[in-house]
Parts: sequence; C-alpha cells; structure tokens
Amino acid sequence: MKSNTQLIVFTDLDGTLIDHETYRWDAAQPALTVLNQISAGVVLASSKTTPEIATLRTSLGLDDWPAIVENGAGILPPNETATPGGASYAAVREALNRAPEDLRGLFRGFGDVTTTQVAEMTGLSQTDAALAQQRAFSEPGQWLGTDVQKVAFVDHLKKDGIIAQQGGRFLTLSFGGNKVDQMRTIIDAYKPQHTIALGDAPNDIQMLENADYGVVVANPNRAPLPPLSGEEAGQIIRTVSAGPTGWAEAVLSLLHKLELH
Ligand SMILES: [Mg+2]
Repeated sequence: MKSNTQLIVFTDLDGTLIDHETYRWDAAQPALTVLNQISAGVVLASSKTTPEIATLRTSLGLDDWPAIVENGAGILPPNETATPGGASYAAVREALNRAPEDLRGLFRGFGDVTTTQVAEMTGLSQTDAALAQQRAFSEPGQWLGTDVQKVAFVDHLKKDGIIAQQGGRFLTLSFGGNKVDQMRTIIDAYKPQHTIALGDAPNDIQMLENADYGVVVANPNRAPLPPLSGEEAGQIIRTVSAGPTGWAEAVLSLLHKLELH
C-alpha cells in the first residue's frame, strides 16, 4: 500500500482514456508520463473484465495501482491478474433467462453469442473478444428494443436483485457494485490528498461527482451528459477534444491548477 499519495486519477477507458474507434491511448501519454513522474495513482475503471484490464494495465505501466473491473462489480488488486470473489456471473445469466421471452429476446448478451459476434459488437480483435467473454460478475449486452421495452426488461430483472447500468455502448447487468462504490473503497485505503475522475457516459456520472474534480470527456458518438452537480461551481469540467486527447488536456490543466506539475 502506498502512503502519502498526493493524487489518484480514476478513469473510465472506452471513449475516455482510450479512443472509442481505434482503442489507442497514445494521445494521453504526455499526461500519463507526468502523473508517473509525480507518483500519482491512475486507477482504471471500466466495464472490461479482469483479464482485459490486467493486460491493459500492464501496457499502461499501471500495475502498482488497483483497477475497477466490470463496471465496479469488482476490484483487481495491484500486481495481480485475478479478482477475488466473483462467481456471480452464472447467477446473473440465470436471472436473465427468467425474464419474459419477448423482452429476453431483445437483449443480446456476451454470453448469448459467439466470440466472433462479440468481436463484431465491440470492434475488438478475436483474442480480446475472447477475454471480454471471461466474466466474473456481470453481463453486458446490446439492447435491441425500444426505451420503453428496456424499462420493462430492467423492472423484471430488478425483482431478482439485478441492477442494470447503461454504459457507452452496452447495457450491463449485475448484482450491484458500481464504479463509485469501488472508488470510495480505494480512496479510503490510499487517502489521497486530491482526486480526479474522468468519464464519458452515464455510468461515470457518480464517479465524476464524487471526485475533487470530475472531467466529462467529449464523446461525439453519444448524446452529451446532462448538466452535473458541481458543474456550475467548476468542480466538473468538460473537454472540447474527444477521448485520450481531451483526457490529456484536462489532466495537465488540473495538475497545473493543483500545482502538482
Ligand atoms: Mg466510456
């Protein structure tokens, strides 16, 4: 456990640190380098699975920090490749299959399709799509019906204790635990002097609102987030540039503001 942590940055991946189309993060590297130089933490918080996050975390040089997996359903500890707990994925699938047939058929989950289809749905390579199917806690999928049908579907699953979270491209079902719950756990453990959170989708809002500074990273592929609590006071800022370019601009500007550069 690191003590005297000055700053922890909590970040969503898809559409935030990682480009929505190309899955690259090069544009954020200048800011990541500065964060590393000042020993700031970067905690990845994503809908991705443990094997996906573990690989990415290593590529980003962030193995010394915990990561939030499957939309906050679990935490991958530093320097490990497995998430403790879990095993609720099968129970989520069972509850899903108890939904009325007409609604059930409108949800196409990662467990309903082949690896090739997951690759098509996500734009991931075949290898990465296989990792995305190795789930411990939650089931993401495409919603193929209307918004009204989605409300009915989500209400049915709620009776079984399932919580549905709408992310950038998938509706994710789990027994709970979200990004902000896990962010609070990590803040309690590390007690950083400052926190920054970055995200682009509704499932990032609570994380953004609960950090010292929240950054809405522009995502031209989706409707902009509504005005957030703390936005008028300047606690929430919005980037002009999308994805990793906006990420770097916001982080460098906040480091300057916090005199941590
Ligand atoms: Mg996102």
